[in-house]
Amino acid sequence: MKRQHIETIAVHAGAEVDLATGAVAPPIHLSTTFEHGPACEDLHGFAYIRESNPTQTRLEEAMAQLEGGAAAFVFGSGMGAGACVLQALEPGSHVIFPDDMYVDFRNLRQGYLAKWRIESSVVDMTDIASVQAAVRPNTGLVWTETPSNPLLKVTDLGAVCDIAKQARARVLTDNTFATPILQRPLDLGGDIVMHSTTKYCGGHSDVQGGCLIFRENDSFAEHVLQTRKILGAVASPFNSWLVLRGLRSLACRVEKHSANAAAVAAALSQHSAVEAVNYPGLASHAGHEIAARQMKAFGGMLSFLVKGGWDEAVEVASRVKLFINATSLGGPESLIEHRASSEGKDSITPKNLLRLSVGLEHADDLIEDLLQALA
Ligand SMILES: *Cc1c(COP(=O)(O)O)cnc(C)c1O
Repeated sequence: MKRQHIETIAVHAGAEVDLATGAVAPPIHLSTTFEHGPACEDLHGFAYIRESNPTQTRLEEAMAQLEGGAAAFVFGSGMGAGACVLQALEPGSHVIFPDDMYVDFRNLRQGYLAKWRIESSVVDMTDIASVQAAVRPNTGLVWTETPSNPLLKVTDLGAVCDIAKQARARVLTDNTFATPILQRPLDLGGDIVMHSTTKYCGGHSDVQGGCLIFRENDSFAEHVLQTRKILGAVASPFNSWLVLRGLRSLACRVEKHSANAAAVAAALSQHSAVEAVNYPGLASHAGHEIAARQMKAFGGMLSFLVKGGWDEAVEVASRVKLFINATSLGGPESLIEHRASSEGKDSITPKNLLRLSVGLEHADDLIEDLLQALA
């Protein structure tokens, strides 16, 4: 059969009918241990839950197919997944990070990498020359996040991959905002894709998880798998099952999230109390052309700057009635968050920025709510 469309993969990957019972919905295997022979001979392909488990394996097969990778490993959280890659690097390695990225990876870089004897640089990845300039002889990894959290900056993944290939470094992409439905970094030359499956993949604000997908199942991928096993950051069977369940509707959810976000972004960008809207789907966005090239649609996340400062932004957040003031993203319900408050004292996010996770409600209701909050 020729390569299936992503919507079809999302429904069927890792969803094989259960051989033992014919069950169409996958079973959840909670067993921590699996029978082996008297000298520990492998009998069933599984041994101990921290190494692998049939429900985790189904999710890993699904994520590998969705991203077009050779292997996928699931974790207890997105942070667990990303940290595992950094922990698997050789001491003395150098990593290039983007200046806008998920806040706890910023905190991880600042608080831990030096202790692990990993060097790092931070660059504006919308400026490809600055990525090139940051390359060192020991650069082992270029970390990308596009669109980024919370500024929605867009990185040209093909261009970064070209630089990394020359430098013999790997490229990791945090693909949480875009999802494999809208963007497939491995097709653009990337080596590793990371997801917080807590967000769109799970999709219902009720499960935490992370995933790494590798273009090649090479010795580095094996080392990451070994690191997951030794450090123990693996996903539980039940959480794996919930993410697997979320994947079945991922394609149609992301389509609706994107359409709603586009409508909200258009409405906000015309409002006199709004200074700027960060949404790659707007023609005015600095990364619009690159995003249009490397993404199928522009996703459900956006942020905007309220005219004024900290107080004016918090005031708007306090007046919404339908949006919920909460962190996280990717669920059916629309969320709003004043990121400077959320990120704490080291935050570098503009003080008047509000981030929206645009949900699956009717766009008109969402726009009406924001307009009354801005009035
Ligand atoms: C939430 C998030 C993470 C971290 O994932 P957790 O599941 O919360 O550990 C990483 N990257 C991005 C872009 C995120 O939004």
